Amino acid sequence: MNTLTAEPEHIAISKSKGIKIDWKDKHQSEYQLAYLRDECPCATCTGAHGTEPHKSSYSAPSGPFPMYKPALKMLNVEPVGHYAIRIEWSDGHNTGIYSFDHLRKICPCAECRASRLD
Ligand SMILES: [Zn+2]
Ligand SMILES: [Zn+2]
Repeated sequence: MNTLTAEPEHIAISKSKGIKIDWKDKHQSEYQLAYLRDECPCATCTGAHGTEPHKSSYSAPSGPFPMYKPALKMLNVEPVGHYAIRIEWSDGHNTGIYSFDHLRKICPCAECRASRLD
């Protein structure tokens, strides 16, 4: 199931709400902004180069030390080749390149969540 390359058929972008993708295999994914921001695959957020990860936590409930979080928005979304999109966030972060493979992998629907638990 997970060996196919993710290919979007249609992408609907709402800069204040999130992204919806209809995949070629008829699957549908809907990503909330906070979720997408938290799943940013860039080296800074994931600590890919041996550095400390600086993952955001927009979708997490306020912790023991609630901080004011300004409303998150996408300022710009641009295609990167035929395999990814780059998102510029209102918090100034803009190094996240979301490949379609990554997006498909983090699909938040119940079906995909369940299959990731295996
Ligand atoms: Zn990032
Ligand atoms: Zn899914």
